[in-house]
Amino acid sequence: MNETEIVKSEEEYLAKVYRRFPVVAVRGKEAVIWDINGKEYIDCMGGYGVALVGHSNPKVVEAIVEQSKKLITCHPSLYNDARANLLERLVKIAPKGLTSVFLSNSGAEAVEAAIKVAIKHTGRRKIISMTGGFHGKTLGALSLTWNQKYRKPFESMLYPNVKFARFGDIESLKKELDNEVAAVITEPIQGETGIILPPDDYLKQVRELTSTNGSLLIVDEIQSGLGRTGKMWAHMHWNIEPDIVTVAKGLGGGVPIAATLAKPEVMNSLKVGEHSSTFGGNPLSCAAASATIDFILEQNLPRRAEELGTYFIGKLRTLSEESKYVREVRGLGLMIGIEMKFNIHEFLNRLLEKGIIPLYSSINIVRMLPPLVIKKEQLDFVYSKVRETLSERDWLQATKA
Ligand SMILES: *Cc1c(COP(=O)(O)O)cnc(C)c1O
Repeated sequence: MNETEIVKSEEEYLAKVYRRFPVVAVRGKEAVIWDINGKEYIDCMGGYGVALVGHSNPKVVEAIVEQSKKLITCHPSLYNDARANLLERLVKIAPKGLTSVFLSNSGAEAVEAAIKVAIKHTGRRKIISMTGGFHGKTLGALSLTWNQKYRKPFESMLYPNVKFARFGDIESLKKELDNEVAAVITEPIQGETGIILPPDDYLKQVRELTSTNGSLLIVDEIQSGLGRTGKMWAHMHWNIEPDIVTVAKGLGGGVPIAATLAKPEVMNSLKVGEHSSTFGGNPLSCAAASATIDFILEQNLPRRAEELGTYFIGKLRTLSEESKYVREVRGLGLMIGIEMKFNIHEFLNRLLEKGIIPLYSSINIVRMLPPLVIKKEQLDFVYSKVRETLSERDWLQATKA
């Protein structure tokens, strides 16, 4: 199929739930994506953070090829070597004490498992999530997701016992926390909403309050985990110990896989049959995830993210001094948000023309989740194009928010 046919086919047959950029991507390597015409892009979207170890990472490719020759499917009712290999690795990098693992296939599923295990373990019903929080779009995960745009059409079908506390405001959490609360769920850094960092002592206070109250603390590291922010887990920046952690996106090097990590005494409250997944823990995804974790450790990607992020965020911050159109640059490691004072629709299109695949949060925040293998020169290129586009005042005037 040629470019026109591909676009036509997707437009006609794929559910119209995605806002699309006019790019037909056909190939990728490290932080670069090529379209069907051979045009090269620096990928700052990174598949919403999935391409953590780079596109078609050779280690991951090799693991997939080798495993696919041996065994592709194997339900968890049978034991399997690829799955055991992954579990050994996951538990090694897991936050302290979270050595019991439920394997699934997407972020939302990892959250669903976390909710069920928290309810079962505590015998309580209520969950507290955060304003601005994003935890996925299946009905259970959507119940914990803040954005009214996503919730509204399904409001009556959502899990009813959810309350939202103001993210970053400990008094707001205190008000909601009673002895019916099974768990509090939070992202350590809010991704979807625009790279929002909590106040410095906030997560520690959340941990203390939940412990005192007998509620579990679920930390959703689906976007922030595996080195993205400069540490293996973003919550480590604030030295807390969650009871449950969810991880997905980058875990399989691009292959769908997710994990819910919990303390054994918590996870073990789910009995045989109370939760399961047919594809969860399949050998192919497990082999890809093992290769991904090995690569993250061998290359010390958390440190790379920290160094490159400090460099890049520092450079981008000069833009907020230079341009009155930049409200704030924030982030940790390579999880970065540039909040603008205008609607960024046209800005993103121009970045795309200049060879950068961007990502956004709402209408005025440019979000960047590039592969952690991105090169310094590529970040310099991105910086120069962001700067150049900002200086193209003609349209900025027109779209000023
Ligand atoms: C992406 C994301 C999810 C949902 O993951 P899916 O794989 O799209 O279901 C949940 N939580 C956070 C923090 C995310 O960034």
